[in-house]
Amino acid sequence: MTLNLLDYDLERLTGLITDLGEKPFRARQLLKWIHQYGADDFASMTDLAKAFRERLAGVAGVLPPELLRHSVASDGTQKWLLSAGGGNAVEVVFIPEQERGTLCVSSQVGCAMACTFCSTGRQGLNRNLTAGEILGQLWWANKALGAVHKRDRAVSNVVFMGMGEPLLNLDNVIPALHVMLDDHAYGLSRRRVTVSTSGIVPNMDRLREECPVALAVSLHAPNDGLRDELVPVNRKYPLRELMAACRRYLEAAESTDSTSPAARKWQRAGAPRDFITFEYVLLDGVNDHPRHARELVAVTEDVPCKFNLIPFNPFPHSGYTRSAPDAVRRFRDILGQAGRIATVRRTRGDDIDAACGQLAGRVRERTRRLAAETTR
Ligand code: SAH
Ligand code: SF4
Repeated sequence: MTLNLLDYDLERLTGLITDLGEKPFRARQLLKWIHQYGADDFASMTDLAKAFRERLAGVAGVLPPELLRHSVASDGTQKWLLSAGGGNAVEVVFIPEQERGTLCVSSQVGCAMACTFCSTGRQGLNRNLTAGEILGQLWWANKALGAVHKRDRAVSNVVFMGMGEPLLNLDNVIPALHVMLDDHAYGLSRRRVTVSTSGIVPNMDRLREECPVALAVSLHAPNDGLRDELVPVNRKYPLRELMAACRRYLEAAESTDSTSPAARKWQRAGAPRDFITFEYVLLDGVNDHPRHARELVAVTEDVPCKFNLIPFNPFPHSGYTRSAPDAVRRFRDILGQAGRIATVRRTRGDDIDAACGQLAGRVRERTRRLAAETTR
């Protein structure tokens, strides 16, 4: 089987090429070729010895996921549909803003968490993405945005807010994070890479120990009764445990000997930001009452945090509607009056279905349509 070099962070790549009899520093050159120059062909890697390139080509390749479609919305948002095989696909969204360019990536095909307001959750879990498939999203976006060769980093921020629960795929997400942060690859700072979770408590601790990047937690309800219903994983990790894990995340991790050198590099570094971002989707008449806002202030009292209020993005048969603008303002003001920072997320890319929770909601249907179009 051909190894996919997109799956490899620096540590693993060094292991692989030293096994092939090459000097360890060549791994850094390879990472640069693959991720900074977007090369998928060993022949172009001219500063590597020809014999080594040939040996490498015998066992490995740079194998990004197949690009099915690229679309650009009228507000500049861009979306790539990448094949995940077997008729499945994942979507990647790029959101350009004045000061930054944010790429929203997926970590799984579907999701097992079954949050009731999320179209990915309705699909169930198909499978985990590999590290190469996660990095392949950034690889494609960089290439399409013309950032290769120039190193001008069109993508300045990455958020794991596409499909899937990243903390249930840490074996692949962590090597992918290493490559995102590696100066020989994408060189993003830890504060510009955000993992978003529905609250998988033990894995929040693992992320903090192995690769503490910025953390967003999808709260969506201020009490266990309502959260049990909206975010079913709350029955396993209720709010009290979740809040404690958030506080721990903001503390520096203890060093343990069991972890790899790459992980040790980040240990004791602590979280890159001194707050947790709490995401809260506002659902009309469900979780948007002033009493919910007051309860939210109380339940998050001991956690340094900011709130990201997300207007619900509807999808067919969701059973929910977006809160009225007045309700959103009132909710934000109550948090503000309590001294909390709360921003309302603007919806972007509406005309290409690129908004949160809509990602890949209709991917199967769309993939089928695409297949029909391309075979016509
Ligand atoms: N599984 C992770 C990350 C992916 S979801 C998590 O849940 O955090 C990214 C964000 O989009 C989460 O906050 C999620 O709750 C939100 N989201 C899901 N469906 C949505 C919808 N229909 N409208 C608005 N936001 C939604
Ligand atoms: Fe999964 Fe996140 Fe959707 Fe919940 S909101 S079902 S955790 S993708």
